[in-house]
Amino acid sequence: MRILVTGGAGFIGSALVRHLVAHGHEVCNLDALTYAGTLTSLAPVADNPRYRFVRANICDGEAVRAALQDFRPDVITHLAAESHVDRSLDGPGAFIQTNLVGTYTMLAEALDYWRTLDARAHAAFRFHHISTDEVFGSLGPEGYFTETTPYDPRSPYSASKAGSDHLVSAWHHSYGLPVLITNCSNNYGPCQFPEKMIPLMIVKALAGELLPVYGGGENVRDWLYVEDHVRALVRVFEAGVPGRRYAVGGGAQRRNIDVVRGLCAILDRLHPRADGRDHARAITFVEDRPGHDLRYAIDARRIQGELGWTPREVFETGLEKTVRWYLDNEAWWRPLLERGADRRRGLA
Ligand code: NAD
Repeated sequence: MRILVTGGAGFIGSALVRHLVAHGHEVCNLDALTYAGTLTSLAPVADNPRYRFVRANICDGEAVRAALQDFRPDVITHLAAESHVDRSLDGPGAFIQTNLVGTYTMLAEALDYWRTLDARAHAAFRFHHISTDEVFGSLGPEGYFTETTPYDPRSPYSASKAGSDHLVSAWHHSYGLPVLITNCSNNYGPCQFPEKMIPLMIVKALAGELLPVYGGGENVRDWLYVEDHVRALVRVFEAGVPGRRYAVGGGAQRRNIDVVRGLCAILDRLHPRADGRDHARAITFVEDRPGHDLRYAIDARRIQGELGWTPREVFETGLEKTVRWYLDNEAWWRPLLERGADRRRGLA
């Protein structure tokens, strides 16, 4: 297949591009290379003839049109977004621009392109929008998000993603564009920008700094290893029903404080502190993020039942693989710290 990936220089997008190229697909990565994007994550495919890169902003209709005309994809997987909740609190404008105006631009250009395709290509085309479970708001101690959970976003980030989901859905109902939407829980794994909780804690621990945890660390997230997410995305755009949404989760609910303690225990084994103290001694509780959702958890039975997808990675082994990756790849993350990762308050 020919797949145009937006945001392919980011965390999930780069894992998707590496997977697709390794599995024989032709990939065009369209990415503006904001602070969050780095081509270093794509080094394994950079010289592959099945991979090409277009530096463009998804809000630039002309550039998107040119990329579509030139590459002629069978599928668009749309991941480009502003993705960090803390940044959305400090500067929501960029989130409205990229997540709403950018998604609108992608839809408008995809629709024009789709209408020019011959009957076979027209029938096979898919526009796959990658979204988050944060659009559903916050759960109490019980229950799960499903595909029919009402939207209740709380942060500028989740509100902008919720709006983008509605636009994608509207393009299906109003114009017949064959769209798919996935709402996924928190991802972790290699190549995640070190402002998100897991990599931030790792790089802070390696620097011997305090490990700031919001509130009491009671917030629960349903963690999904990025490569499991990538396999889910491929199943959805290959076999999902146009117009449908799929909730994707790792089935690994953990409190933030337990994730950070788990990281500390792994680091105590793999990279003990010079002063001989446990890494967990550096944990410090800081004032909670405003509107911090208490708990997210996904009921992933639709994608499991209809498309036969299940997550493979066990959280604790995935976490150790992630720690090892950051230990082995300082040359990847060190330059990114200069881009302001460490200015942020803390913890997604
Ligand atoms: P990321 O921040 O790591 O990467 C975003 C990428 O998009 C970067 O390469 C950046 O350069 C690019 N980009 C940003 N604005 C752009 C623009 N205007 N034009 C073109 N490119 C632009 O994000 P991520 O964590 O990989 O998330 C990817 C997608 O998955 C997002 O849509 C996000 O909402 C969604 N998602 C993420 C998670 C998670 O845990 N990370 C969970 C669920 C859903």
